[in-house]
Amino acid sequence: MGGKLYDRMAVIGCGLIGSSVVRAAREKGAVGEIVVFDASEAVRARVAELGLADRVEAEAAEAVKGADLVVFATPVMAVAGAMKAAARALEVGATVTDVGSVKGVVAEALTAAAPDGVHVIPGHPIAGTEHSGPDAGLAELFEGRWVILTPRESGDAGYAAAVERLTAFWEALGAEVETMDEKHHDLVLAVTSHLPHLIAYNIVGTAADLEQVTRAEVMKYSAGGFRDFTRIAASDPTMWRDIFLANKEAVLEILGRFTEDLQALSRAIRWGEGDKLHELFTRTREIRRGVIAAGQESPEPNFGRDRGKH
Ligand code: NAP
Repeated sequence: MGGKLYDRMAVIGCGLIGSSVVRAAREKGAVGEIVVFDASEAVRARVAELGLADRVEAEAAEAVKGADLVVFATPVMAVAGAMKAAARALEVGATVTDVGSVKGVVAEALTAAAPDGVHVIPGHPIAGTEHSGPDAGLAELFEGRWVILTPRESGDAGYAAAVERLTAFWEALGAEVETMDEKHHDLVLAVTSHLPHLIAYNIVGTAADLEQVTRAEVMKYSAGGFRDFTRIAASDPTMWRDIFLANKEAVLEILGRFTEDLQALSRAIRWGEGDKLHELFTRTREIRRGVIAAGQESPEPNFGRDRGKH
């Protein structure tokens, strides 16, 4: 690991992901000073109490002053407002990034508000848990996980160097970095994360509303598959509301495909087409093995160790 990559990092929004970035950057010595702003007074007080940052500011503009790296880690729909509040105080040459689970909308908002000479490089660590807030952060959250950066077209000579430096920052935190077009990111994540969450929210809602099966029975026999959905469906409501609103187009496209495939499955069940079911379940088993081979899941049947990836 090679030393400090930025002199001063400002983190705007210090919940699970923001405080994990702070903890990891501190532990790895990747930055000099760490300054935090959060819209919530209670979160600011808790960050100060935990001693996570060198300074906690009550205004976004105060926090970003003199920072050469600014990381927005608020819910997706709050990034635009937070960036507007901070923009006037950004330093020329600073890198502005984020950790939002949707990239198109966030990239537009950051770019629209950025003053000239500031490098906007949107990002998304594919690492997380179903917990929220500054107490939930972990220094090791990004170890062995992917971070996707979605650099924008830029005629600025310093931009490529800024992308390289941000890549080195995430690598110092233990992550592997991939770059991708932001629209493609939003489609990929709609399949791998957003649709599974929607299904989990829906299935848990359906089970809770059933009249013939009691809630007590649902809890008691949950190891039959339901339990793993409940973990995903416990994810933060604000964050997930924002993700679906911000990635509407890609989610609806994938949901359309999913609904068609579900109809085909229900037809196969209705007409007793066991071969069709068996063929699909064999293919999906291979995909599961591929996920394990890619190091993105522990092979044991205990999903408790899984860190939800949004
Ligand atoms: P979190 O724990 O709820 O933290 C978000 C923090 O941002 C909260 O303290 C919130 O305060 C604060 N905030 C809201 N609006 C703000 C504003 N305008 N200015 C400054 N602070 C503001 O959420 P999180 O899980 O860390 O998620 C943060 C981002 O990471 C989201 O964009 C999410 O899509 C992305 N992400 C999450 C995961 C995951 O697993 N959780 C994984 C990858 C990426 P209040 O509590 O008062 O609202």
